Amino acid sequence: MVEEFTAALRSLVDEESPSADTAAVERCGDRLAAVGEAVTGAAPERLALSGGPSALVWRRGDARAPGRVLLLGHRDTVWPLGTAAERPFTVEDGRARGPGVFDMKAGLLVGLHALARLAPHVPVTLLVTGDEEVGSAASRELIEAEARACGAVLVLEGAAEGGALKRARKGWSIYTLHCRGVSAHAGLEPHKGRNALVRMAELVAESGRLGAPERGLTVTPTLARAGQTVNTVPDRAELHLDVRARTAADQRSADESIRRLAEAPTGVEVRVEGGINRPPMEESAAAALLERAARHARELGARPPESAAVGGISDANLVAALGVPVLDGLGAVGGGPHAEHEWVDVDATLHRIPLVTALVDGLAAHPLPGPEGM
Ligand SMILES: [Zn+2]
Repeated sequence: MVEEFTAALRSLVDEESPSADTAAVERCGDRLAAVGEAVTGAAPERLALSGGPSALVWRRGDARAPGRVLLLGHRDTVWPLGTAAERPFTVEDGRARGPGVFDMKAGLLVGLHALARLAPHVPVTLLVTGDEEVGSAASRELIEAEARACGAVLVLEGAAEGGALKRARKGWSIYTLHCRGVSAHAGLEPHKGRNALVRMAELVAESGRLGAPERGLTVTPTLARAGQTVNTVPDRAELHLDVRARTAADQRSADESIRRLAEAPTGVEVRVEGGINRPPMEESAAAALLERAARHARELGARPPESAAVGGISDANLVAALGVPVLDGLGAVGGGPHAEHEWVDVDATLHRIPLVTALVDGLAAHPLPGPEGM
């Protein structure tokens, strides 16, 4: 099993798939389809998506079963072509390394092996997209449609530290504040200018005060541009803000506050671009599934996995916004996503397979109560 798993993982890592290179992501899709057919005995459907790479779908069981589970993953990575030549796939002391190994090619194999173990009538869909790392613009509609058709979603992204499942993810908003003043000569007639840079600096300070880090709301100025020459009052400046919020309510109120800041009459016009990008995945979305995971782990003779609330986003945020129960971090156990030291604990990751299998089986037999039952 270990050899089979690591050989398949090597083959997926070797077929590099940076999000920006659609042809490469499609080649990785071909490889994944072949690996998936070898593991599960079935070829996937290949769905073309406009504006991005295709999606792969393995679908089993009665289409309308209330206990249908969506297993969700992505095959694109943040690593450019050539990374695998610089940092080839290796396995040493039970740790697999290589670009995209943890985020999230090993997780895709967890999903495929779970499918292989499930009886053919069990209602389950495995969906693999190719644009998660760049915001899922092309796959979003499909993800949402598949999630709505299911009673629960298990996301096969890598675990949090120590194999912890992800019970909550913050929401993310991004803004660009375009400041438009009036330029003037800084020596001859500075009083005729309206300084966009000064207004931008005020906005940096004002927006920083909108955060409430004690409850997980942060407003971070991340990028700024201003000025034309060293002796001109600048008429243009641009400020980027990154907002993270634990609750939808905080995310909305930060959004309103930022728009209010921009409306202040100061002589420099401020136009706001951007807004809420990903709603938060609040703890309530994962609670029932987390309980099931703990129970199944005990039944399997394992320690129930820990759980963590994390700052980063994934497609789990999209699903949670629909009100569909979702649990994330069920894929690889390891660490270092988007980092050169990215690694996977092969043995611990193999133990995810029976856990995911049991979750799907259990949900098919005993679906979570629907919205009307809650
Ligand atoms: Zn990922």
